[in-house]
Amino acid sequence: MTPILNADLHCHSVVSDGTLTPEDLAARAKANGVELWALTDHDEIGGQHRAAAAARAQGMAYITGTEISVTFANTTVHIVGLGFDPDDAQLARGLAATRGGRNERAQDMAAQLAQAGIHGAYEGALQFVGNPDLISRTHFARFLVESGVCKDTSEVFRKYLIEGKPGYVPHRWAGLGDAVRWITEAGGMAVIAHPARYKFTANEEYALFSEFKQHGGRGVEVVTGSHSAAEYVTYAAMALEFGLAASRGSDFHSPDESHTDLGTLPLLPGQLTPVWELLAHRIQLPPA
Ligand code: AMP
Ligand code: MN
Ligand code: MN
Ligand code: MN
Repeated sequence: MTPILNADLHCHSVVSDGTLTPEDLAARAKANGVELWALTDHDEIGGQHRAAAAARAQGMAYITGTEISVTFANTTVHIVGLGFDPDDAQLARGLAATRGGRNERAQDMAAQLAQAGIHGAYEGALQFVGNPDLISRTHFARFLVESGVCKDTSEVFRKYLIEGKPGYVPHRWAGLGDAVRWITEAGGMAVIAHPARYKFTANEEYALFSEFKQHGGRGVEVVTGSHSAAEYVTYAAMALEFGLAASRGSDFHSPDESHTDLGTLPLLPGQLTPVWELLAHRIQLPPA
């Protein structure tokens, strides 16, 4: 794999809160020129064998992926895992435990939304769920758009699903050290997802990056659908400062909702070490 590569190492399928199957995502990635792909469903690796097979069928290189929900400094932080063994038992147990509270949280969200005058949100959200173990805020957002409460999913989040809004239920996810360890001990690399999204103070961000490193984390997303061009520069500098490899991924969820399509972001800045250079031995190449 060359250092300059159209790699897309972050996206979601119906196994979490995306709307496409792993097969349709693989076809879309290939059509958009992706050369190395990873499916990174939230707290789930149930789509990994399908994604790898679909990538092979498309003649595209594949690396395993997931995106683990973590609570750090009372904030939800996402840690992407890449290149792990998809059959690792400890990782599977950790992800199952992380998913565990989602159903109860969803029922609490629906109860709060009912108090705000929106009824039937749990059953409504379930209509959009592809994996009964993984009901997420995104599924509620789709229900509220379909029922005409809001015009799009970002309006739903703004008005109902973020902290301080009527449908927001605080939740404790995995610990940072646990998530990094599950990924690393399964042979993979832990990567801080979309760091600009957390709105941390400089001190909190420094704590996240240094604790992540101490736990064995090795990468950070620099070019992602959630970063501005200025944030590419900021996090390229952070990658160099902390000695982290850099990743690139669209965070694509749906043709109707996502503003960044698979494989369409700028390439990684040249001076960084791409995650795929350190994960070369974990890349599944298609038949020649
Ligand atoms: P959950 O894991 O259930 O808390 O849901 C988190 C997911 O909600 C993220 O992975 C995004 O797909 C989606 N999300 C979070 N914030 C927003 C937002 N402001 N607009 C649209 N989608 C969002
Ligand atoms: Mn999502
Ligand atoms: Mn995320
Ligand atoms: Mn994501």
